[in-house]
Amino acid sequence: MVFASFGFSTEKYAGRIDLVYPRLSEDGSPYLFLDTVRAAFFFGTVSPNSAQLEIDGQEVEVTSDGAFLAYVPLDKLLGTKAIHLALIEEGKVSDALTFPYAFTAETEKSVLDTEGIGSLVFPLVLRVAAEHTVTRTMPGGTYDLFPAKGTNLVASGINGRFFVIDLGSGEATYIEKQFVSIDTGTAPQLAVLENIAVSSLLDESFLRLPISSRQPFRTRLSSDLRELTVTFYHTISDVNRIMFSPWTGGVEVVRWRPGEAGRVDIDIRCSRPIEHGYIVRYATEDSEAEILIRHQPAGRAHSLDGKTIVVDPGHGGTATGSIGPRRTIEKDVVLTLGKLLTKELKRLGAKALLTRDTDTTLGLYERVDLAREENADFLISLHTNALPDGENPFLRHGTGTYYYQPGSRRAAEAVHRRLLLATGLRDDGIFYNDLALVRPTEFPAVLVEVAYMMYPEEEKLLQDPKFVKRVAKGLARGIQDYFRVR
Ligand SMILES: [Zn+2]
Repeated sequence: MVFASFGFSTEKYAGRIDLVYPRLSEDGSPYLFLDTVRAAFFFGTVSPNSAQLEIDGQEVEVTSDGAFLAYVPLDKLLGTKAIHLALIEEGKVSDALTFPYAFTAETEKSVLDTEGIGSLVFPLVLRVAAEHTVTRTMPGGTYDLFPAKGTNLVASGINGRFFVIDLGSGEATYIEKQFVSIDTGTAPQLAVLENIAVSSLLDESFLRLPISSRQPFRTRLSSDLRELTVTFYHTISDVNRIMFSPWTGGVEVVRWRPGEAGRVDIDIRCSRPIEHGYIVRYATEDSEAEILIRHQPAGRAHSLDGKTIVVDPGHGGTATGSIGPRRTIEKDVVLTLGKLLTKELKRLGAKALLTRDTDTTLGLYERVDLAREENADFLISLHTNALPDGENPFLRHGTGTYYYQPGSRRAAEAVHRRLLLATGLRDDGIFYNDLALVRPTEFPAVLVEVAYMMYPEEEKLLQDPKFVKRVAKGLARGIQDYFRVR
């Protein structure tokens, strides 16, 4: 979060209101709230801290060191309105400021992009032209598939800036035009999947699946996490042999099933839950898909010895993250925490690495790619939380943990349990959430929101080195618990 320097505390006043959020514009133009927002939170500090703060005539609680957080109803009438803040000392106003605001419509109008589509004939063959491509469940919807560069797609039409991708038997997914190139010369073709080779060892199993071209696929774990199903779309099976060699590891069964029209399901059943990660990808050059599954061998002493734990302090550089009433900044707190956590993990025998060890700007995919390159056994991303405009900060604060892959659920639980004990704060919960840092399948990945930076009591704790150290120890214990169980 970027903030401007504040020059609105006028000379004639002795006291000072430092409104950190929402930010006043320097030219006095109104702050825009979405038209769905009915109340807004205001936070910052006042000095002296003995003064009384009123927002629109209501007294607001100020902590002993001058921090405040208020949740203020907004006037829904059209036009520009204002909220008035006043600092009162000995019955006199010692500082005041006016916060003008207006409303803006919730959604941008979707732009109908019909440029150059008049000549296109559907079905149309497309090829994924970019790395880190996503498809969506509907135009502008949540992420659906993550097709690799070079994957063939069949478009059945256009919806705004999206191609409608036909996955067969009525199933569709949506991809932005910018991610694909159009292959006008070819008709849609089914790929052919050939004989599968499986080598299954104690620590990991590896499957080779020769396929005549790159097709989109979907992966799914069964609810007991023991079975991985990979569905290849627009593919027919010519598998008459599955070779198991060697076969001493965690894979129990591999079979293929013809799915509905033009798809093939590969089921891989393992003797233990697939929690330590898997990856389905296309081999670099050959027309071959490969599946790697990491097992957790039974009956071994589990410890952090030799485990590669990647610790990701969120944000950094120009991305400051959340800010507190006292202007504490997320990127600084999580960097300190990350350094302490890697130290603690090393003490417990792990090989621990930071995605950033300085105040530097780093992209989300760069962080994930780094964990992949390091062949991580675990990824943990460190954050402090904030709420979007309109939410009530008195209802939502405390400690939360996020995961996305079903196989990371137990990791999230193990980390959350210890983190909650360490912070002693309100339990904000465990969340399933499609965030870039918890999306990888190759290793368990969790993201923690240690506390809410905007909440005065929690910001105060985040400023306390003893608290941050306790959190680092708690997180390390949580990761240790995760590897110790079973
Ligand atoms: Zn963050």
